[in-house]
Amino acid sequence: ATITERKASANQLPRPPIVTIMGHVDHGKTSLLDRIRQQYGLSSDVVSTEAGGITQVLRAWRVEKGGKSTTFLDTPGHEAFTKMRARGANVTDIAVIVVSASDGVMPQTEEAIAHARAADVDIIVAINKVDLPDANIDKTRRQLYQLNLLPDTMGGDVPFVECSAKTGKGIDELLDSVAVLAELAELTADPTQAGSGTCLEAYLEGDRGVIATLLVQNGTLSKGDVVLCGATFGRVRAMYDDLGRPIEEAGPSTPVKFIGLDEVPDADDPFYVVDNIATAREIAGKRRERRSETDRFKFQA
Ligand code: GDP
Repeated sequence: ATITERKASANQLPRPPIVTIMGHVDHGKTSLLDRIRQQYGLSSDVVSTEAGGITQVLRAWRVEKGGKSTTFLDTPGHEAFTKMRARGANVTDIAVIVVSASDGVMPQTEEAIAHARAADVDIIVAINKVDLPDANIDKTRRQLYQLNLLPDTMGGDVPFVECSAKTGKGIDELLDSVAVLAELAELTADPTQAGSGTCLEAYLEGDRGVIATLLVQNGTLSKGDVVLCGATFGRVRAMYDDLGRPIEEAGPSTPVKFIGLDEVPDADDPFYVVDNIATAREIAGKRRERRSETDRFKFQA
């Protein structure tokens, strides 16, 4: 369904924005994410990766400020972001471009901006490391203006936030800016529909089987549902939230970890809840056949 069609459906409700942090290496992406989670993560406890015996941490978290939720994705690099896009997985609503005020704009900063623009997502600029003695905020701002990122005070529509992942300065403002952009974008989804979304990552873990992180983008994913994910399928046997707690269902913009797929899907594979396991098996089987034919063709050529 197109966005217009989806908006027209009766049960559209606001959903949390999905945010990706991008920028030049060492400008503070990880530190900012950590800081945001520390201050506004759903639980003040350390993320319980032991729950359910799952050893790897989810690369997506929900945070909450002033009653508003946001889902942050930890995308492993700009290429992954664009590869996702190329495969039709439009998972991000807002890109936070992090720029160190002591280094200013660097090649990967420009690259990140280009990727965000190509994906047509809203941009927030986070000028980070403003606590450092050699921080040059004005110079950094000017460099960004030259790349056509303009704050509203200059007739643009890009929020600029000056922050420090080290001291915590500006973190509140950053989340407030996310909330404002999200509200303007009127992001909605229909939680009454069958769950669908994108696989963020998946791997095989010992005798537990395939563990997949899915981002539910529309509808609700429930325990017991049959999932078709790329060329793989299975029933949701167990499902965990971003704190490693077992959950029964997950609505729009919620990242979950789940066990039940028969094979490891590709990251970026879309997933859908389907009516029954026979249908899922049939479609997955056809996709596998097609895939192996393509591989054979590539091999011969
Ligand atoms: P990433 O590569 O973009 O994920 O950057 P990191 O989060 O790993 O940060 C790179 C380095 O910069 C680390 O040593 C951080 O401690 C440091 N750093 C990150 N943010 C800040 C900040 O706001 N102020 C200061 N002084 N250091 C920071």
